[in-house]
Amino acid sequence: MASYKQPCIHCGTYIDRDARFCPACQSSSPFGYLCPACLRPIEKGQPICSACGRSLYVPCPACGKQTFVQEKCEQCGGTLMIRCQNPRCDVLQFFENQKCTACGKKIKPIKK
Ligand SMILES: [Zn+2]
Ligand SMILES: [Zn+2]
Ligand SMILES: [Zn+2]
Ligand SMILES: [Zn+2]
Repeated sequence: MASYKQPCIHCGTYIDRDARFCPACQSSSPFGYLCPACLRPIEKGQPICSACGRSLYVPCPACGKQTFVQEKCEQCGGTLMIRCQNPRCDVLQFFENQKCTACGKKIKPIKK
């Protein structure tokens, strides 16, 4: 079976089109952006999620500038993802999520 490859939008690595995540950068949405709250596809530049209404631009926890809700800050390149603290889940979550979208457990905010 011919499997065809497409580049990950986050790191540019060519991966299988049906891959659920990118093995190079661990992204769970290698071919498009997803709303961090409801996981519906979103377009970069869209101000709010049309499905759940959350704002798709947030202040970066590292530099404080507005950035699109992608995995890394558009301004400083700092990560916007944290790992679910449930050891059996361990899925990357957007830093603002209060509950893990995979296991439903509460996520503690990052402290520095
Ligand atoms: Zn990647
Ligand atoms: Zn949404
Ligand atoms: Zn930043
Ligand atoms: Zn989890």
